[in-house]
Amino acid sequence: MGSLIKGDWKKETELRQMLLNNLTWLHLENAKVFDKDMTFDKLHQEIEQSYIKHHAFDWHNHEYSSGAYGKFGPGQFSNLYSALICPTADSRFHFVGEAVSAHHGWIVGALDSAHRAVINFLRRFNLKDAEDRLAKIDWLGNPPDELDKETAVKQVILGQVLPKRRMEARVDIENGKNADAVADGGK
Ligand SMILES: Cc1cc2nc3c(=O)[nH]c(=O)nc-3n(C[C@H](O)[C@H](O)[C@H](O)COP(=O)(O)OP(=O)(O)OC[C@H]3O[C@@H](n4cnc5c(N)ncnc54)[C@H](O)[C@@H]3O)c2cc1C
Repeated sequence: MGSLIKGDWKKETELRQMLLNNLTWLHLENAKVFDKDMTFDKLHQEIEQSYIKHHAFDWHNHEYSSGAYGKFGPGQFSNLYSALICPTADSRFHFVGEAVSAHHGWIVGALDSAHRAVINFLRRFNLKDAEDRLAKIDWLGNPPDELDKETAVKQVILGQVLPKRRMEARVDIENGKNADAVADGGK
């Protein structure tokens, strides 16, 4: 699509035509539910009549985005992701957003990461009642499956440790040292 963007929307006739065609295909099935005589041409005409203007943006050639969403390179899920999702500042500061989720490029990644951060925040302060209430909210669905509970709990503990002590604390946790002792000793 980027090649159809000319910088002046009035000149983007091919792009406009493509948009109108795609919108027509998208809505045709539903439109037929309301009007059984609906045809592609009829709906196309209706949509075209509603058209005012468009604004196209080429994300691939945008200096900072270089594309529509974050995407890890090889190995970065193993060596970068776990550090990015680890809370910090006494586990009160959580990073969220599509780029900090296992579902890069999707709204669900943004929502999952926010869901994860809220759960971890509640765990940090032992707000079990609030966590239980959160789990009962139907539309929120199950907690994101990208991070198992055991790992999430460890990350909340690591988030309470000063960053310079985090590697050491991580080894302590893996060696079975009591989690609370790791958090208290690391401040
Ligand atoms: C062209 C395109 C098509 C897409 N299509 C789909 C799709 O079909 N389905 C789908 O699921 N996903 C799609 N996505 C991806 C989806 O839009 C993103 O994954 C989602 O919006 C990310 O949400 P977010 O909250 O993580 O970040 P954003 O929505 O990017 O929110 C970040 C916010 O932070 C603000 N911000 C940045 N810096 C600062 C600062 N210093 N101070 C204050 N505010 C700041 C920004 O202005 C922005 O509002 C598409 C994305 C693009 C670009």
